[in-house]
Amino acid sequence: MIELDSVREMRRWSRARRAEGGRVGFVPTMGALHEGHLRLVDRARARADATVMSVFVNPLQFGPHEDFARYPRDLARDRDLAERRGVNCLFVPGAAEMYPTTPVVRVIPGPLADHLCGPRRPGHFEGVLTVVAKLFHAVEPDVAVFGRKDVQQARMIRCMAADLDFPVEIEVAPTVRESDGLAMSSRNTYLSAADRVRARRIPEALEAAHARFRSGLASAAALCQVVRNALAEDPAIRIEYIEAVDPDALAPVETGGADTVLALAVHIGATRLIDNVALGDGLAGDPRVP
Ligand code: AMP
Repeated sequence: MIELDSVREMRRWSRARRAEGGRVGFVPTMGALHEGHLRLVDRARARADATVMSVFVNPLQFGPHEDFARYPRDLARDRDLAERRGVNCLFVPGAAEMYPTTPVVRVIPGPLADHLCGPRRPGHFEGVLTVVAKLFHAVEPDVAVFGRKDVQQARMIRCMAADLDFPVEIEVAPTVRESDGLAMSSRNTYLSAADRVRARRIPEALEAAHARFRSGLASAAALCQVVRNALAEDPAIRIEYIEAVDPDALAPVETGGADTVLALAVHIGATRLIDNVALGDGLAGDPRVP
């Protein structure tokens, strides 16, 4: 595995792979790698001849009171995990390389940010799309793989690639979960042991709504209430939002269908966690890691 920290070198490396006739796969991350990230690498490797992973904690996507400073960083561990999983190139640009000056022109998500996390994290998705656009220009991938865990982000990136003519295929991989169903996240490391136990209620609540949907309950408000009631059993879980939206526009629906996305954000202690399922699927298709 080669490690690069400059945009110029990254582009040169990627162009050399393509000049050899190879396809370049790309997995952007903020590091603190877990099995969820590594499954994206598996997907990229299956679709390409050379796989690039970026590790960059993007300051542009954090709000002033969010966890940028304390976001977990462990490059030595990430390097080891990435190499062992078959990443060919680790792209680790510093903040000064990505943002020699604070970008004035940015990519805006439009109405895709009107619901779910959008209104609760002003500027977040603008920061995400801007850095992903820049990373796409640095890596020039043929295929890029994102996680369904961040369903709103994945949808926006797909739309950005289509709307702005990025010549890249966007692939979205299922949410990888811990053995008890909790979606893997770098932020799970913030949870105390007691809060980690509490967090099991999140997948359980989503699964409860899925079960009610399967047995005939279709009202989106009622399905969200099922989730709310399941979470409310633990007063230490603070609900930020629970919404049922359509998978394309990410706008709220009144009646749930199989592809309706049921998504939530909660706070447990100082940790903000998100998760989602498609009503028709529930957690069934999501791989679990022992
Ligand atoms: P992050 O490092 O959290 O910015 O995530 C980098 C990529 O990994 C994004 O495409 C995420 O959606 C994806 N990802 C994070 N957690 C998971 C998970 N549990 N399962 C699948 N993909 C994930």
